[in-house]
Amino acid sequence: MDITLSVIYEVKKISDYRNLIYSIKKNQDDFNLVSDRVKNCGNISSNTVNLEKYSNNRSKLSNIYHCGNVWGCPICSAKIIRTRQNEIQIINSEHIKQTNGSILLVTLTVRHNKSNSLKYLLDNILKAFKKLKQSRTIKDLKEKFGIKLSCRSLETTWGKSNGYHVHIHNLFYLDKKLLDRDLDNFKSCLYNCWFRLCKNVGLGSISEEYGVNILDGINTDKYIIKYGLIKDNLVNKKAKNGNFTIWELQNFLANPKLLDSYDITLDCVKLVLKTYFKCFFGKKLLTWSDTNKLKAKYLKDSKMDKFRKRDIINSVLIDKSIYKKIRSLNKINEMLTIYELKDIEGLHEYLKGFGFDNELISIQSN
Ligand SMILES: [Zn+2]
Repeated sequence: MDITLSVIYEVKKISDYRNLIYSIKKNQDDFNLVSDRVKNCGNISSNTVNLEKYSNNRSKLSNIYHCGNVWGCPICSAKIIRTRQNEIQIINSEHIKQTNGSILLVTLTVRHNKSNSLKYLLDNILKAFKKLKQSRTIKDLKEKFGIKLSCRSLETTWGKSNGYHVHIHNLFYLDKKLLDRDLDNFKSCLYNCWFRLCKNVGLGSISEEYGVNILDGINTDKYIIKYGLIKDNLVNKKAKNGNFTIWELQNFLANPKLLDSYDITLDCVKLVLKTYFKCFFGKKLLTWSDTNKLKAKYLKDSKMDKFRKRDIINSVLIDKSIYKKIRSLNKINEMLTIYELKDIEGLHEYLKGFGFDNELISIQSN
């Protein structure tokens, strides 16, 4: 198979990205930061593992167990978040195409300091947000500004001075464009309600400057779920004001030397992450409010199914003894990269280097 320089470049970029994810996963497992369920992610679930290669030169492993934990597992979350980001991108462009309206990205924050536990902040922000969704204010805003659909995502950053900074991003899909004065009106109605509800659930009072922020939400697929590990840019959108995103904290596990620039210990990072994985477990990454079934309509209209499918160029079955050995040596990523760059022949050679012969590998299709 011919392989061009640009393909090699692309494969290497993906390989670097995958290396980092696997390295974070290993550190999280070794430091005991995650549950057994997450630790077992990647275990083999049958006698053989299927390795598939697609027309875009990417490879994929199947017949292995996936934990599906979007908060704690870097491998599963990278996959889930990429899918969700693609969905949001499609929904955003369909919404604008079909309504000529607008999308607002609202960020809701709460007052916090380092003595607040993550559980306290998380429970209460969700409580306040639930009340907000049921409030008269939201009903009025829906009618007045033509809100047809909305989507919330949950996120936290962490900083040494002020602890966890839990916040909610909410996309509002409007069937009209707003003038500046409408936007001011929208913001002040929302702020007044948010301020009241935060106090109501026992959170402190939040200023208008920090409580509610509104941005144009069209290009928000990567922003709304910021944890999304953007492969083009290994370092994600950074949190501000001395705060770190969860991704940056996970990156410290894999590259502890980076901590030299900050007054933070690796033990502190481990504790922050362990608490985060525990408290966010079971929470939904995204929730859609969609009484009109508009989300499903947008995805259907955009023919997203087509977007998902890729042709398989070839696939290989490898025996579980090989998979287990390669996994125990932390060389899954290396194996995938060899397969992507050098195809089946290269994979054979690579596995022979570990003492495996060809009988344990069988080619399925071409
Ligand atoms: Zn997983």
